[in-house]
Amino acid sequence: MPAMPARPPNSPPPWVLAALYFLAATLPIALALMTVGRGAGAFTRAGIAAGIAAFVMLLAQMVTSGRFERLSGRLGIDVTMGFHKWAGPVALAFALAHPFLLVGPPDPDRPNRQARHLAAVLEAPGLADARLALLLLALLVALALLRDRLPFRYEVWRASHGLAALALVAALLWHALSDGRAAGSWGAVFWPAAVALATVPALWVYLRRLAGAGTGWVVEENRPVAERLWQVTLRPAGARPFAFRAGQFAWLAFGRCRVPLCDHPFSIASAPGSGDRLRFLVQEAGDFTGRIGAIPPGTSVAVDAPHGSFSLDRADAGGPVLLVAGGVGIAPILAILGALAERGENRPVRLLYACRDPAFMVPEALWRVDLERLGGRAILLTDSAPDGPGVEQGPMTLDHVRAAMAGLDPARTTAFLCGPGGMMARAADCLEGCGLPPRAIHFERFRYDAQGLSRKDWRRMGAWVALFGSVAGAITLFALA
Ligand SMILES: Cc1cc2nc3c(=O)[nH]c(=O)nc-3n(C[C@H](O)[C@H](O)[C@H](O)COP(=O)(O)OP(=O)(O)OC[C@H]3O[C@@H](n4cnc5c(N)ncnc54)[C@H](O)[C@@H]3O)c2cc1C
Repeated sequence: MPAMPARPPNSPPPWVLAALYFLAATLPIALALMTVGRGAGAFTRAGIAAGIAAFVMLLAQMVTSGRFERLSGRLGIDVTMGFHKWAGPVALAFALAHPFLLVGPPDPDRPNRQARHLAAVLEAPGLADARLALLLLALLVALALLRDRLPFRYEVWRASHGLAALALVAALLWHALSDGRAAGSWGAVFWPAAVALATVPALWVYLRRLAGAGTGWVVEENRPVAERLWQVTLRPAGARPFAFRAGQFAWLAFGRCRVPLCDHPFSIASAPGSGDRLRFLVQEAGDFTGRIGAIPPGTSVAVDAPHGSFSLDRADAGGPVLLVAGGVGIAPILAILGALAERGENRPVRLLYACRDPAFMVPEALWRVDLERLGGRAILLTDSAPDGPGVEQGPMTLDHVRAAMAGLDPARTTAFLCGPGGMMARAADCLEGCGLPPRAIHFERFRYDAQGLSRKDWRRMGAWVALFGSVAGAITLFALA
């Protein structure tokens, strides 16, 4: 049975998510200040509010870890993970402000007062939970920001990140319940319920995988298709083919390891209607992918899919489609191209495909037939000396993007970009320069670090700063009210 195209997830638009985030952070602050914080001074009230905001933001981190389609479905995993990454340090800033604000400002008449109170916070036996929470949070943030420079494997980091996050939430819950300022009568119900709401879905992702969800696939074929690039084909061996949209990705775990720590995200390179096989392109990039070529046919695979919002349903119906791929970023682009060809679409389609070296390019057989069926046109670029006809000198410039856009109506064109961060940022800026509206430019990032930011990314980060700033503003207002 061929895999069916899936309907897009019914996830809320970004502004609704931002409003929910703001409400979730500020509602308990308002409750706490109306009850336990009533009559307290402005600094104490601000301290209570900063602590509560930090706790709520950290609980939200549990569900912004990229595994919840209902949340990240419309945003995309890269945007969700980017938010997750920046919300951590902001929560740490609120958490650090919490004890300082509670202690209050320096008093010129009692010069040692502030230092004495802070020392008391550091030593008080009843605040061991708070100290542990602050230490864990600082460690979590530091290790996340330095992750790519750490001398241990990504999987080890992921395991420690998840376990430390659970320990942090437990310590915070203990602190909130044992410290009357955050608990009040409503807090005894509110905080355990909030913790359950945040952690149960996160644990569910892991438990259902441990229980065998997604199993029943095996490697049918694994062959090299370019320099350090492998095409892995899976066939169902008991699993039911699932519905997905061209451009989406799957979490794959090869072999016997069922823990989600062993899985890696890979874009599905085959189109939904192309049969029950799933095709992936995997580039050797690190510990796991460096050994991908050694995985023999017959190996069992667990597939957790579909995920992601990088898909055709984001395109203007009937409008032109521009596909921009860099390196292994061609994987989801192949699926989109295949889906367009299967549907027999007659809209204009262009492909801009860039690689550092011709040896890294996938064989033309993987995309040429579909592109020709669509009457589309390709521009191929390589950074090293181009070999063969039709390949131009890279890296990508505005002229290449203009050439790809030639004759297309920018107001109706949708662009799908997947490749190295720097290349996508440049392509996105060039496309905006060609008149494409930012909402018509869609990215799929294979790495969550901020490698190369486009103008669209900077605007999005500006929106996050505004959201975090509005939480800080609400804390100030509540404290002064
Ligand atoms: C949505 C998405 C789709 C992707 N599609 C493809 C694809 O089609 N083909 C392809 O070759 N690569 C794809 N990748 C990248 C691929 O997941 C990583 O290259 C791979 O996980 C690296 O694992 P490693 O153990 O070999 O490398 P490591 O040395 O362990 O890590 C190298 C870097 O890869 C990233 N990484 C490692 N493990 C994970 C993980 N489990 N989850 C997220 N990031 C991780 C981290 O940034 C890490 O710093 C995709 C990534 C994402 C997020």
